[in-house]
Amino acid sequence: MDPASRPGPPPRAKRSLGQNFLIDPNAQRRIVDALDASADDEVMEIGPGQGALTRHLAERAGRLVLVELDDELARRLEAEFAGNPRVRVMHRDVLQVPLEEVTADPARLKVIGNIPYNITTPILFGLLERRPRPREIVLMVQKEVADRILADPGNRTYGALAVGVRAVADAERVMNVGRKAFRPIPDVESSVIRIVPHHPPRVTQQDERSLRHLTRAAFGQRRKQFQRILRDAYGLSAEQVGALGEELGMDLRARPESFAPERFVDLARALRERSAPPPDLSAGDAEG
Ligand code: SAM
Repeated sequence: MDPASRPGPPPRAKRSLGQNFLIDPNAQRRIVDALDASADDEVMEIGPGQGALTRHLAERAGRLVLVELDDELARRLEAEFAGNPRVRVMHRDVLQVPLEEVTADPARLKVIGNIPYNITTPILFGLLERRPRPREIVLMVQKEVADRILADPGNRTYGALAVGVRAVADAERVMNVGRKAFRPIPDVESSVIRIVPHHPPRVTQQDERSLRHLTRAAFGQRRKQFQRILRDAYGLSAEQVGALGEELGMDLRARPESFAPERFVDLARALRERSAPPPDLSAGDAEG
């Protein structure tokens, strides 16, 4: 459909749905370029909104599934792409859509989105804490969240998010995007990140579960030495923790934030193999 004949002016942006539309054409193109979608690819776009990325994607992807929660925007997208059999609009909450409903082959799916920032973590972990994981994920996120995902060990912002993502995927920053690239102008700076899950996975599902328990325990008390956390949270003796550190070549007197994601995986695996009970974390959520 010709953009000029779209029905009426676009509705007012809804804060509740995180609607900050990307108006900078250069940023739009660069995000879509980062996904590298071709005619062989199936792509899911999360929160297509007024179609800023969608129109570029529709020219490239073999099949494009648009998941949009907003009634009016979903209706407009349906009207705009009605004549394109390669584009399907799902008027749904992305958090309620299993990838199996999007595609017959989730392992080949590429995912892209300028997403509502208030649901970044559930979107991200919804894509990563499942099997098979999608092939590639390109997301616009709050810059501060990108910084946390990409932080190096030892950095103040390194924590559960960095370990959770980078234990199962490679992650990189594509670019930073200033506030003026959006309308309405948001309060925060943004970054585009590209996440490529390891294929085949390097961590078993059992070890991933163990890793989640470990990172919650570790970063819930990040000022403590790792050995103290393991003793308190897993009920291990000083001797058991000493033996664990020696076996893995890890100095567990250091704080959790000094260990790379791979070391967390090694530790989580060793704890599971020793059948150390997962910690009771009912007292509250982990920080970072
Ligand atoms: N992609 C567009 C762009 O770049 O201009 C819009 C981005 S805007 C930041 C986020 C979009 O996600 C909005 O269109 C909003 O309606 C949609 N949205 C919000 N919550 C959603 C949800 N739970 N599931 C699917 N879409 C959602």
